[in-house]
Amino acid sequence: MKQSKLFTKISKEISKEETSKNAQLLIRAGFIDKLMSGVYSYLPLGLMVFKKIENIIREEMNNISGQEVLLPALLPKENWEKTGRWKYPEMLKLQNRAGKDFSLGWTHEEIITPLVKKFVKSYKDLPIYVYQFQNKFRDELRAKSGLLRGIEFSMKDLYSFHKNQEDLDEYYEKVKAAYFKIFKRCGLEKVTFLTLASGGAFAKYSHEFQTETLSGEDEIYFCKKCDLAINKEIIEEEKHICPECGGKDLEIKKSIEVGNIFKLGKRFSEPFDFMFRDKDGKENPIIMGCYGIGLGRLMGTIVEIYNDEKGIIWPKEVSPFSVHLIAIESSEKVKNAAEKLYKNLQEEKIEVLYDDREDKTAGEKFAECDLIGIPTRIVVSERTLEKDCVEVKKRSEKESKLVKINEVSSSL
Ligand code: ATP
Ligand code: MG
Repeated sequence: MKQSKLFTKISKEISKEETSKNAQLLIRAGFIDKLMSGVYSYLPLGLMVFKKIENIIREEMNNISGQEVLLPALLPKENWEKTGRWKYPEMLKLQNRAGKDFSLGWTHEEIITPLVKKFVKSYKDLPIYVYQFQNKFRDELRAKSGLLRGIEFSMKDLYSFHKNQEDLDEYYEKVKAAYFKIFKRCGLEKVTFLTLASGGAFAKYSHEFQTETLSGEDEIYFCKKCDLAINKEIIEEEKHICPECGGKDLEIKKSIEVGNIFKLGKRFSEPFDFMFRDKDGKENPIIMGCYGIGLGRLMGTIVEIYNDEKGIIWPKEVSPFSVHLIAIESSEKVKNAAEKLYKNLQEEKIEVLYDDREDKTAGEKFAECDLIGIPTRIVVSERTLEKDCVEVKKRSEKESKLVKINEVSSSL
């Protein structure tokens, strides 16, 4: 893509009310725009990152046999009344002219359960794994962390349906492994920890995936004896003793919950009377699990972890482009060489943002390039062309190197 065609521009100002690093950087660099507190628009660059994250999650969900659907966001009151959750304080509610009550979906157990029930009758139909990417709405009181806590935000929610607990337990482990792959592909492998969280009535524990960072709203407790990570709620219940090994030496770290996995058991199948026929013709309740990841929160977390004083430093797989190509003089020679390289890289299926703008100084272009944070910068100038070269620099490194023009793509 040519940068001259990008309708968004880099802004020098950061709004004072925006206190979170992720929102400051993403807004300045033109990835997102704030409509109001907790509600953001994704602009072209931001949507590219968002789609990359979405696709990573989609691939890993499909790998564990997930089937993608898209449920509505506008939901009827009746479904929530069945489970007693119409009272949920964070639910945003509305009414039509006829006085019918609706909510905007903050989660979708009440919708997916009766939906799957329509199709699943016998043990032969099980297990089933269904997921979606959908915007959720929650009346969050503390919506001041940029993409980390939205009032409207996108979530991947997966729901699994099983004939018994063993089957759920087995799938739960598969989802755990898929989540680790997702966070690894997003560059968060070393800082994301499986964390014990409260499990509700069905299982002793659920698990959160907590990414360690100083800007996190959550706290996790690492047991120095057995290395287990435990969330605040559990550690308080356990009176600051590790539930696994009895260790008392705990290290507190700030963190962000990027995902969670939960054994629901019969919590939703029972109110919707969702049963299946087993081999002997007997009716049994369905056993369920649910598994969430917030896409915007994940994107915001990546920015919180990967930045320096100059801007964002995107991990490879989620970067909007692989290469930021910059022509720093507008002489015919430089323009032609850059244009040609741009075409060649595109033919090799390398995603390039090409800064072809003629009204910006080299200094401005470099500063914007660092702010946007694409992993590799390639500079074409009179000086490099004298040696038939371009200058290649990684965003995460200080040094650049000269590379022969015809060897650029193989050096990437
Ligand atoms: P939190 O404790 O941070 O409020 P939660 O327990 O309410 O999170 P879930 O309902 O389990 O979160 O949602 C699943 C996932 O959706 C979370 O792990 C997180 O990644 C994401 N998420 C939850 N609330 C928000 C929000 N307000 N904005 C952005 N992402 C969110
Ligand atoms: Mg919440």
